[in-house]
Amino acid sequence: MREFDAIVIGGGLVGAAIAYGLVRAGLKPALIDEGDVAFRASRGNFGLVWVQSKGLGAPHYQRWTRASADAWPALAAELLARTGIAVGHERPGGLHLCLGDEELAARAAMMQRLQAESGNFGFEYEMLDRAAVAELLPGIGPAVSGASFTRYDGHVNSLALLHALHKGFVAGGGTYLPNRTVGYAGVAPHEFVIGSGEDRIAAPKIVLAAGLGNAELAPLFGLSAPVRPQRGQILVTERAGRVLAMPTTTVRQTLEGGIMIGDSQEDVGFDTGQRPAVMAAMAQRAARSFPWLAELQVVRAWAALRVMPPDGVPIYDQSEAFPGAFTANCHSGVTLAGAHALLFAPMVAAGALDPALAPFSARRFDVHDAA
Ligand SMILES: Cc1cc2nc3c(=O)[nH]c(=O)nc-3n(C[C@H](O)[C@H](O)[C@H](O)COP(=O)(O)OP(=O)(O)OC[C@H]3O[C@@H](n4cnc5c(N)ncnc54)[C@H](O)[C@@H]3O)c2cc1C
Repeated sequence: MREFDAIVIGGGLVGAAIAYGLVRAGLKPALIDEGDVAFRASRGNFGLVWVQSKGLGAPHYQRWTRASADAWPALAAELLARTGIAVGHERPGGLHLCLGDEELAARAAMMQRLQAESGNFGFEYEMLDRAAVAELLPGIGPAVSGASFTRYDGHVNSLALLHALHKGFVAGGGTYLPNRTVGYAGVAPHEFVIGSGEDRIAAPKIVLAAGLGNAELAPLFGLSAPVRPQRGQILVTERAGRVLAMPTTTVRQTLEGGIMIGDSQEDVGFDTGQRPAVMAAMAQRAARSFPWLAELQVVRAWAALRVMPPDGVPIYDQSEAFPGAFTANCHSGVTLAGAHALLFAPMVAAGALDPALAPFSARRFDVHDAA
């Protein structure tokens, strides 16, 4: 049986970021993943590093997201230095476009509430009228009545990110164990044995970062991760010259020039199929925002499943019954990669989560059940 300092289950963006952070912290961990049979959240996402709509009614989540977005430039620079992979992170700020006055009023109210809830931490934003939006993004359609803007937002090539995290993990002395589905768990405080087939590996620490797989794994460790799938579809156009200087919530231009159009939110269980009606609705809204988009050919489209906690807020815990076992789940694993690698992983390495993460415990769902 091979022994490690820590085991991370799940080689998607969440597990890979934490595993990368653990080698940075000086540990020799193993990263175990069931392989390319998963639901592909980490390979099928939209690539935003997005702050402005996160944490309504949950100011701790707003703070955590901002901390992650602030950590992102250092993470991108470090990944480039350690792996030679440029993940294409840019932070020019971001816009949420509103079509019609009703949407604009609702957005303004939401942004005002986010700011009120931020307290001393603060939350800077601007509501822009149509003319101001047109100065930032030429070619907007007549339907656009305005937008919210924050300087915190950005975007990245999330496939390059996944690649760089894996490469940096292995280069730092981590052991990657792909094509293994965890089927056995021997669990005692600070003593974990994980099995896949005949293989057994052991460590005093374990992080469950298996995305949707966490729902089944967590109870084995005295933890809870009641995550569910939520489908999102994405369209990508042929490449165009650089036209969009910054991302919007549902339309962004990649560094290579393709325009990505996302992203639906569909509760359809584990169905990863695509739906033409949904794709058409997404394309129509995008073309109302930017009429010139209608001239471009869509060259690729896909669907993938988000890892969605019941209230949309991440879940982080350490097991009370089996200390040394941690969970990490979220629906914004691109955005939170900075926090997972540079803030969360050091807490795991040190053996305790910062008290500031207490509101993210899945115990919050027990309270709701009792109410
Ligand atoms: C359409 C769409 C758009 C998105 N857009 C954005 C965005 O713009 N910005 C953003 O921040 N986030 C976005 N996300 C969310 C982001 O992609 C996810 O939060 C993130 O990828 C989740 O990563 P994960 O590692 O938790 O899950 P996954 O990517 O699902 O990885 C989990 C891994 O665990 C492994 N696993 C599961 N069970 C086991 C087991 N028993 N044994 C071994 N391995 C196991 C699987 O093989 C898998 O590789 C989007 C998601 C979707 C679907």
